[in-house]
Amino acid sequence: MPFCDVCGQRLPVEGDCPECLRREEALIEEALNTEPPGDDHLTLQLEAEGLTPEQARAEIQDPRTLRLMLEFGGLENILNDRNATEGLRLGILARDPAILYGLYYYAKARKPKGKRGPKPDPQSGQYKWEQAMSLRAQGHTYGQVAMRMYDDPKQAKRAAALVSTGKAKAQPAKPRPAEAAQPMPARPPVTKPHPT
Ligand SMILES: [Zn+2]
Repeated sequence: MPFCDVCGQRLPVEGDCPECLRREEALIEEALNTEPPGDDHLTLQLEAEGLTPEQARAEIQDPRTLRLMLEFGGLENILNDRNATEGLRLGILARDPAILYGLYYYAKARKPKGKRGPKPDPQSGQYKWEQAMSLRAQGHTYGQVAMRMYDDPKQAKRAAALVSTGKAKAQPAKPRPAEAAQPMPARPPVTKPHPT
C-alpha cells in the first residue's frame, strides 16, 4: 500500500497525494492573491525628483540612504516601501555597517529614557532634514544645498536623501485597509550590533 512522502497518509494508488496537491494549490492561490506589504512611495518620490526608476531604486536601497532614513525618518517609513524594505533586508543579511548603525541608532532613539533622536542644529534650531528642505524650497539645487550644509557639492545625494526623508515625515504613510489588520511579515528584527 503506497503512502504519501509528505503527509504520511495512505494513498489509494501509487502517485501524487490528492490531499497535498490540494494544499499546494491553496498555497499558490494565496501567494498569488497576497500583495507584498508596502508600496513604492519613497521610490516614486525620487522618480518625481527626476531619477529614472532604476536610479530611484538604487538610491532608496543604498545603505547610506537607509541609514539616514533610520536616523531621521524611522523604521516604519522604510517598511512601508517595498524597495526600501528589500534594501534593508539585504543590508541586514550583509551586516552592512551603515545599516547596522542606523538600526542601532533607531533602537536607541526609541528607548523611553535618554536622547530622542537627533538633536537640531543649535544655531538654527532646525534638524538637518528641515535645513535641507527649506534650502530646497528656496529653489536651490541639491548640489547647492550640499554646498551650504556640508561645504561639499558632492554630498548632493545626501541632501536629496534628507529632503526625501523630510517629505516622508510630512506625509505619513497611509495604512491600507487590507493590511492594517495583519502583522507585516517582512518586518526585520531590530537588533543591536555587537559592540566589538
Ligand atoms: Zn500527502
